[in-house]
Amino acid sequence: MKIETKCLHEGYQPGNGDPRAMPIYQSTTYTYDSAEEIGKLFDLAPGHMYSRISNPTVEMVENKIAALEGGIGALCTTSGQAASLISILNICSAGDHFVATSTIYGGTINLFNVTLRRLGVSCTFISGDASEEEIAAQIQPNTRLIFGESLANPALTVLDIEKFAKVAHKHNIPLIVDNTFPTPVLCRPIEFGADIVIHSTTKYMDGHAIQVGGVIIDSGNFNWDNGKYPELVEPDASYHGTCYVKDFGKAAYIVKARVQLMRDFGTYPAAINAFLLNLGLETLHLRVERHSENALAVAKFLNINDKVEFVNYPGLSTDPYYTLAQKYMPGGASGVLSFSLKGGRDTALAFMESLTLAKNVVHVAEVRTCVLHPASATHRQLTDEQLAAAGITPGLIRLSVGIEHIDDILGDVQNALAKI
Ligand SMILES: *Cc1c(COP(=O)(O)O)cnc(C)c1O
Repeated sequence: MKIETKCLHEGYQPGNGDPRAMPIYQSTTYTYDSAEEIGKLFDLAPGHMYSRISNPTVEMVENKIAALEGGIGALCTTSGQAASLISILNICSAGDHFVATSTIYGGTINLFNVTLRRLGVSCTFISGDASEEEIAAQIQPNTRLIFGESLANPALTVLDIEKFAKVAHKHNIPLIVDNTFPTPVLCRPIEFGADIVIHSTTKYMDGHAIQVGGVIIDSGNFNWDNGKYPELVEPDASYHGTCYVKDFGKAAYIVKARVQLMRDFGTYPAAINAFLLNLGLETLHLRVERHSENALAVAKFLNINDKVEFVNYPGLSTDPYYTLAQKYMPGGASGVLSFSLKGGRDTALAFMESLTLAKNVVHVAEVRTCVLHPASATHRQLTDEQLAAAGITPGLIRLSVGIEHIDDILGDVQNALAKI
């Protein structure tokens, strides 16, 4: 199946007389004929026991997303933040270290730089433009992974996935890629060597601004049995001696994330949310195509306007990340662009207040056009130094271009520009 078809048909194929649409199994638990049957579930036999760990509706959506990314399994979470947290803690304990690119989502920077540090897991931030030697220089004996964003929110830098995967694999550690902005319709990091992919499904996957969610996808390609990941190889005391690699082979990472960390942290989505996420996934390919088309048109329009200082959009042939974008997301550079107006912060805020169609919201990547000032919102907690490293200037505006008619979007932008 092509990706457009997978968006519709993976995860749930109804049999004779079954519901046409994916059913919602809104139940906390599941019935079995005997205590012995239930006992087997606690020995990790297949089957659902409790909806903090798995649920049939959520599982169908997990299988669909795994198929879209080309992975062997997936785990849905209640938010993108929960997905990044679990993806890291699944292979890092106190005393461990990892490397992340500096132009990642602001919330992820806080998680890595403050909260994980308090738990004893440290992170070194490096430029996504670093050379192989510069990346390798940050890898210590206790480094457990490298983390980056395929298309960074909001810096819009494009990650050279192959370069990072190469260095990671040379050091026997995995590459985790946050693929939220391109979605698997535009970019499939596993095809370029990423081992684990995560998403905030809150963005394009849901696409309608109706629910927060996340997902972790396992490529099944990484060899965990290399001496660095005892938690995946040695017996798990919390599961009477299960050895994930021995018992689950290629699915070791994603099984452990579910049965150990999801069991303990409990950030599993409700069936109704998975159902709503699935509605978003069914039209993902159409929406992402239109978002990319509209965003490119707006980027071109702004790029030649006298009041605009610069535009960041990797779909523009003048953008420094154009070549990487052509390689990793040839079908389009997604719907988000950022730009700076001459005049800095105050002009930026005045422009934003003059927009009428595009609303000021703390959101991005949805069907309706919206706008945000990162320095006063999502990235408010960052220092000036961190802001600069994340590619954010005080006057930067993030515009998330929706799927309205392009004339209406451009008209709104044009009107607001005329007012400053
Ligand atoms: C929004 C976002 C997150 C965090 O996801 P939530 O669903 O808001 O928790 C992580 N990464 C990226 C790239 C995002 O855009």
